[in-house]
Amino acid sequence: MSRSLPFLSSLFRLTLWCSLALVMLFAWQPRSAAAQEGPTPRIYEVQAGDTLVGISERLGITPEALMEANQLTNPDLIYVGQKLAVPVVTPSLPAGAITYQMQADETLLSLAAKINVLPNDLLVLNQGMRAQYFALEPEIFIPDLSPAAWPDPILAFRHSPVIIQGQTGVVELVLSHKERPDGFFDQTPLHFFYVGRTTKGYHYRALMPTGALLPPGNYGIKAQVPEATVQSVVPVEAGSYETQYIVLPPDKSALLTPKRVQAELIKLHAVWDLLSERRLWRKAFRFPIGEGFQRTSPYGTRRSYNGGPVNSFHSGSDWGAPEGTPITAPAQGIVVLAEPLDVRGGAVILDHGQGVTSSFWHLSQIDVQVGQRLKRGEQIGLVGTTGLSTGAHLHWEVRVGGIAVDPMQWTHTYFPYAPMAAAQPPAS
Ligand SMILES: [Zn+2]
Repeated sequence: MSRSLPFLSSLFRLTLWCSLALVMLFAWQPRSAAAQEGPTPRIYEVQAGDTLVGISERLGITPEALMEANQLTNPDLIYVGQKLAVPVVTPSLPAGAITYQMQADETLLSLAAKINVLPNDLLVLNQGMRAQYFALEPEIFIPDLSPAAWPDPILAFRHSPVIIQGQTGVVELVLSHKERPDGFFDQTPLHFFYVGRTTKGYHYRALMPTGALLPPGNYGIKAQVPEATVQSVVPVEAGSYETQYIVLPPDKSALLTPKRVQAELIKLHAVWDLLSERRLWRKAFRFPIGEGFQRTSPYGTRRSYNGGPVNSFHSGSDWGAPEGTPITAPAQGIVVLAEPLDVRGGAVILDHGQGVTSSFWHLSQIDVQVGQRLKRGEQIGLVGTTGLSTGAHLHWEVRVGGIAVDPMQWTHTYFPYAPMAAAQPPAS
């Protein structure tokens, strides 16, 4: 994710009203070919509504790298049609990885079988390199599988080396026989799911969601099967979240009575807390509206309503778009809620399986029904400004085990195949 920069704060300090007005003016821009899925382009042409941060995020590079490559001094001074050179990022050694010399006739699958890792992990470590290119590369990255003496039947114990506040982490246990582990991330139960088998063992993974208000610090991970227990520690680092002061018009404020807010939340949590066994997503999530829209409020922004205390954070990512803009499913999912709500307006929730849900608020039209199974990219409804909303926009939130996490991370990470490092036992 983008690191904090002085100019970021000035970008986010735009009031909601200003950004919305800007978006209304510029949002009808067609999808830019350069920003679609596929290999990183060498030149990016600035589209209406683009921001430097938004462009960098979509291209998977840092705003600093983009500014440096184009000798930009002021990130606010980019213009429509400007051609930006996209720097080629030399891959750096990911955490928990080592370099490996490919042998003659070795392929992705033969190598994965030889070193006992899942082929998907090799793809992720090598930043989405296509399977057929592995045989052509002289040197690639593989996980550091330095043997650790874990108690039988645990063969390996790995997890995200660090989690940024608001992001989703991963933990893995490899066992010599098939048996679902359980455990805790701090005080929260871990839900392990079977992800695959290598010649040596059975791989189980759990997601570790962190909310934007989780205090930074070291958090314990504990995983167990009846025969053995293992423990480790993962640092959670501060995200760079701003504070936003929102003033609602009187008729909208009336919606904020604690009783109505509470009743709606109880209904939503019943759906968010679902834990269906099957993982329905098969890729990183697809962004639910087209390219070229302006993000009006990022995930994690701390919020105060009408001068009240700052006691909540923005649970999703807001994108200004004209009323009627189609919203599509970011991944395969089953519709578990589709109805107008008091606070959130026209609402749809998709269950992607294994405790992961996507929620869409403020819709002007709902095109799906509860129980319906949607494919990735199928239409859910239309952007609107129903419920507690100050202008036409899409609010998209992703929850893992009921905890709202940064949805943008899910657009560039194919969970649960995220980089991991060998577990470090807690210092005693
Ligand atoms: Zn929102």
